[in-house]
Amino acid sequence: MAKNADNKMERLVSLCKRRGFVFPSSEIYGGLNSCWDYGPLGAELKRNIKTFWWEAMTNRRDDVEGLDAAILMHPEVWRTSGHVDEFTDPLVDCKTCKARFREDELKDPTQCPKCGNKTLTDTRQFNLMFKTFMGPVADDSAVVFLRPETAQGIYVNFLNVKNSSRQKIPFGIAQIGKAFRNEITPGNFIFRTREFEQMEMQYFIAPEEDEKWFEYWKEQRWNWYLELGIREEKLRWHEHGADELAHYAKKAYDIEYEFPFGWKELEGVHNRTDFDLGRHHQATGKDMRYQDERFTEKFIPYIIETSAGCDRTLLTVLVDAYDEDPERGEKSTVLRFSPKIAPIKAAVFPLVKKDGMPEIAEKIYNDLRKNFNIFYDYRGSVGRRYARMDEAGCPFCFTIDGQTTEDDTVTIRDRDSMEQTRHKIAELSAFLKEKIV
Ligand code: ATP
Repeated sequence: MAKNADNKMERLVSLCKRRGFVFPSSEIYGGLNSCWDYGPLGAELKRNIKTFWWEAMTNRRDDVEGLDAAILMHPEVWRTSGHVDEFTDPLVDCKTCKARFREDELKDPTQCPKCGNKTLTDTRQFNLMFKTFMGPVADDSAVVFLRPETAQGIYVNFLNVKNSSRQKIPFGIAQIGKAFRNEITPGNFIFRTREFEQMEMQYFIAPEEDEKWFEYWKEQRWNWYLELGIREEKLRWHEHGADELAHYAKKAYDIEYEFPFGWKELEGVHNRTDFDLGRHHQATGKDMRYQDERFTEKFIPYIIETSAGCDRTLLTVLVDAYDEDPERGEKSTVLRFSPKIAPIKAAVFPLVKKDGMPEIAEKIYNDLRKNFNIFYDYRGSVGRRYARMDEAGCPFCFTIDGQTTEDDTVTIRDRDSMEQTRHKIAELSAFLKEKIV
């Protein structure tokens, strides 16, 4: 990793801790490797990202239904899906320094990148699924897995959702939820963790229409990141070569983002063919075939999957928004979040703690907070208060000053341009609504 990039990530991680976005898990016990907790601003940001996804993928569409399946599923699901046999990464150990690596990430598969010795073990396939036991007896018959992807919860509910919602193909099922993978090399802050959240949508289609829907979803998902406010020049597509394709995929494209530590996958768009429903059809004897007046011959639906990581999107949002602006003086950090997902939508400041200003400010604060997440602050100089809000990524600050008491106007200070304009108090709610919808 380049030194500069290293520093940028370090500064971002430290900002996240200082301002309450992300903390190391169980920190007072020394932390737990690759586990992180979202603090007050982080929890809000994550919730906003999930809502933004959910609205785009289900609420604003007629053809996608939502689902919230359990993390623990029948263990046979994971045998049928191929995960018990094939959800593995190639693991190598260094006999000298005991470090562990993913063989597919090594530049030279014979040499340890940490100590330089040519003392790597042979490659072993390591299954990434976490196991636990259901019920009081910890024996083999009680083994269950923590799901490594949310997708299987959708496939096993295909018939339930289809029948209860009366959807016709093409239609999709969307789900947000936790997934667990016992990653060999977690790291880069919240980029790769062992517990994470996915935002997945599975779109059920006729096999002959797979190319069309694949292209359609590629475009939809690309545009979603733009709407989220991510800079387009930091995004690119990566097509999986034959050696990268997962056991279920016919075609796969990743959306990648240029992180300080390199171009990395953000989301996968996959053509999973009829692999998943076909396997469950075979294993359970439940008829997964589809037929209607348009498709008169029965077939097992193909699936186009869009699979995004919520934590990874949050990291992308943070990295993309992070800026150090020398024009802002000593406290120069600003998070330029899109107002749509900013954790705090606006801050309300009385310029001074007298002359009736705090009373007006509190009234504005109490009115606006019914609909928006608003922050109220009366302490310190206004410049300091602006700087604090820049670091929290708050897009607007409303300041109540002497003129407010005369004409019911306040200043709105824009985070990005730092410009101040005067607006009527009665217009503030409409102003915010327009910016965040
Ligand atoms: P890799 O090959 O990097 O391990 P993958 O190709 O197996 O990842 P997918 O199974 O396609 O990843 O997962 C879909 C999405 O889920 C990813 O694009 C990513 O956003 C998210 N994701 C997967 N694994 C993790 C993880 N360990 N931590 C955080 N997010 C993850």
